Amino acid sequence: MVVDIVIVGGGPAGAYLGYRLAQSGIQAVIYDDSHPHSHPREKPCGGGVTPFALEKFPLLKDVPCSYRYIDKMLFISPEGKEAMVGGQTLMNVAREHLDGYLLQKAVDAGAKLIKERVTGVVEDATGWLVRTEKGEYRSRLVVGADGASSVVRRATVGRIPREDVCACIGYYARGVERDYSVMKFLKGFQGYAWIFPRETHSSIGVGLDIKQAKNLKKYLDGFIAEYCPDIERIAPFGALIPMAREPKFYEIPCSGKNWILIGDAAGHVDPLLGEGIRYALWGADLAAEAITGGEPARFDALWREAYYRDFVEACRLREFVYNTDMLERGVALISRSETFARIMMGVVAGTQSYRGLRRKVTTSLLRILSEAKSRDVLSMD
Ligand SMILES: Cc1cc2nc3c(=O)[nH]c(=O)nc-3n(C[C@H](O)[C@H](O)[C@H](O)COP(=O)(O)OP(=O)(O)OC[C@H]3O[C@@H](n4cnc5c(N)ncnc54)[C@H](O)[C@@H]3O)c2cc1C
Repeated sequence: MVVDIVIVGGGPAGAYLGYRLAQSGIQAVIYDDSHPHSHPREKPCGGGVTPFALEKFPLLKDVPCSYRYIDKMLFISPEGKEAMVGGQTLMNVAREHLDGYLLQKAVDAGAKLIKERVTGVVEDATGWLVRTEKGEYRSRLVVGADGASSVVRRATVGRIPREDVCACIGYYARGVERDYSVMKFLKGFQGYAWIFPRETHSSIGVGLDIKQAKNLKKYLDGFIAEYCPDIERIAPFGALIPMAREPKFYEIPCSGKNWILIGDAAGHVDPLLGEGIRYALWGADLAAEAITGGEPARFDALWREAYYRDFVEACRLREFVYNTDMLERGVALISRSETFARIMMGVVAGTQSYRGLRRKVTTSLLRILSEAKSRDVLSMD
């Protein structure tokens, strides 16, 4: 079969690209073997969809089921100090339903779904040869939306380097009686443990520290024992997540004249907090713009214009932020200053950009310090 555009992967990135192209009258063929039934599988994920993502992609609000809006976040420092912050509402969603909904939107709009796993893509003089377990297809343009271990990436710019990928592990669990999400920072660990309550279950996990892969289970067990020992574990999960260690990672191109990488395949995940759903859809949107404009290679300039600088800044902040001393002070300041709490919650919600963060904190410093001081005085009374 000869097709014009092949999208490998029908997760949020691939499905949304298929949908956007179909809206412009372009039919893409999406390959994904993980959708044997009407809904796709549950993908290992917190499932936290930020206010930024909900605002930019309003269709996310129409996921038909298994989501829960949560408007509070409990930050816990490595030593156990706590600060509860409200003011931003995240949607915690089961990926089975989010991904199924987006893929169905793509198919309903006109994209074609082939439920086959792509085993390799090879470029030759006439375009791309796409091999699956069942057959061979030819295509003019190939898009890699096939996650952190992308076969399209391997055939274009090469695998994501090992040092720029990390593992997350956790459980889907019942019995978390909370109406707030939890982010617990850990000693000597550049990442966090989380509890994201959803409609019928919760996602509980730990990850994001590239150097701590071997110790993840120890951190997860310790976190569960301390903060949610009575949960009913439904199933364990573990998955890789792109996590650029240095800004240099982003110098690798994400498109060429007849190929594009989007979402996790491009490594487009917030390198500080691990948010990826927003960038999966954002990248897809920009890829659709490049493709409909007849210049797929332009995608590389488009994503750089949109969110490259935020990734670079987040990367630079990691050593500074994930420092036990800094996290202790940070959580203490969140509990004492409403202004600082609002800024930090804005970062988690995506409404405060990384590139504007230093400036925001600097210009708010006097207010933050005065709020913190008056709380100290009050707490002494
Ligand atoms: C534990 C964990 C927690 C996370 N928590 C959050 C969170 O709370 N909020 C957030 O925004 N982000 C979170 N992320 C990141 C988020 O899950 C990803 O960034 C997002 O799923 C990327 O979407 P994608 O479409 O690029 O890739 P994926 O969601 O990985 O989808 C890739 C698709 O490609 C298919 N595929 C793969 N290989 C092939 C192949 N060879 N042939 C055909 N199909 C193939 C797969 O079946 C899959 O359907 C988390 C990630 C992890 C691992």
